[in-house]
Amino acid sequence: LDPAGKLSSQRRIAEGDTVVVYERHDAMRAVAVRAGGVLQNRFGVFRHDDWVGRPFGSKVHSSAGGGGGGGKKGGGKAGGFVHLLAPTPELWTLVLSHRTQILYIADISLVVAYLELVPGCVVLESGTGSGSLTTSLARAVAPHGRVHTFDFHEQRATSAREDFERNGLSSLITVNVRDIQGEGFPEEHRGAADAVFLDLPQPWLAIPSVSLMLKQDGVLCSFSPCIEQVQRACDAMRSCFTDIRTFEILLRTYEVRDGSLNSGTANEEAVVGPRPQKRKKFTPSGENSGCTEKTSSVLVRPCSTAKGHTGYLTFARLRV
Ligand code: SAM
Repeated sequence: LDPAGKLSSQRRIAEGDTVVVYERHDAMRAVAVRAGGVLQNRFGVFRHDDWVGRPFGSKVHSSAGGGGGGGKKGGGKAGGFVHLLAPTPELWTLVLSHRTQILYIADISLVVAYLELVPGCVVLESGTGSGSLTTSLARAVAPHGRVHTFDFHEQRATSAREDFERNGLSSLITVNVRDIQGEGFPEEHRGAADAVFLDLPQPWLAIPSVSLMLKQDGVLCSFSPCIEQVQRACDAMRSCFTDIRTFEILLRTYEVRDGSLNSGTANEEAVVGPRPQKRKKFTPSGENSGCTEKTSSVLVRPCSTAKGHTGYLTFARLRV
C-alpha cells in the first residue's frame, strides 16, 4: 500500500515488498518478496528474484524446470503464470490472515462513505481485530490523517502492527492495547476525532467515551452482528447523538450466461435483454427484409453461494 497514493502500475517491486500473488479470482495470497525466495504453487515454481524491478501488475511465468512438467498455458504446472498485484486495501482484505472475524469490502465501503472520511481526518477504531477495516480507513485519510486503533488483545495488536508496518502504513496508523469498553478512549484524543468506529461485543459501554472524543458534528459507526446489540447501542446513543440509522448490507450475486429461453427455464431465470447475433435488416418502409434473424438472450439467476448476513452498521452524528 502506498500512502503517497502513487499509482500501483507505476511502482516497481522491490525486496521487502508485499505482493498479492493472483492465481485465479478465487485463489490469491500475500507474499513478502525476499532475496532467494521461492514460491511454489500448482502453476509452477516462481523465484522472487525474477520479480524485483518489475512493475506491480506484471504477469510472470514459472521458471524453467519448475512445477514438474506440463507446460499448459495459464493452467497445469510448469509454464503456468501468476500476476503480481499491489496490495490495495480491497485485495488485502481477501488475503490477510484471519485472527478474528473481519469486515469485508461491502460493509467497509459504506463505513468509509458514511463516516465522511476524507484526507486529513482523524479516526478512532476499536477493536482492531485483523486490521481489515483499519487498512481501508488509513487509505481514506492519507496522506496527512491518522487512524488510532485499539484492541485489548496484546497479540492481535502486535500482529496488526506488524502487518501495517510491512504494508507501509505505519505513518498513518497507531495500534494501542486498551480495554475500550472498560476504560473508554484515552483523554489525549478528547474532541479530536472526526469519526469513531466500534466493532465490540458491548459497544454501548464505549459510547459515553465516544461522545467525548468526537469533534462537533463528528460521526460514529458501530458494527454488530446481532439486532439485540444494535438496540442496546441505539439506546445508549440517544442521549448525545442524532440521525441514528442502521443498515444491513446483503450481497446478491448473479450468475450471468448466454442462452435461449425455453419453457423449463422461464420461472427461475430472468431475461435481462436480447443479444442480437446478427444485425436485423430493415427496408426503408420499416419492414423486415426477410433476412433470417438469430438472437440469443442473457439469462441471470441468483447464485446459490450468495453471501448473507454479516452484521448491522449503525451510524449516528454527535448532537451539537
Ligand atoms: N473490524 C475488525 C476487522 O475488520 O479486522 C475486526 C474486529 S474483531 C471482530 C473484534 C476485536 O475487538 C477483537 O480483536 C477483540 O480482541 C476486540 N475487543 C473485544 N473487546 C474489546 C475491548 N473491551 N476493548 C478493546 N478491544 C476489544
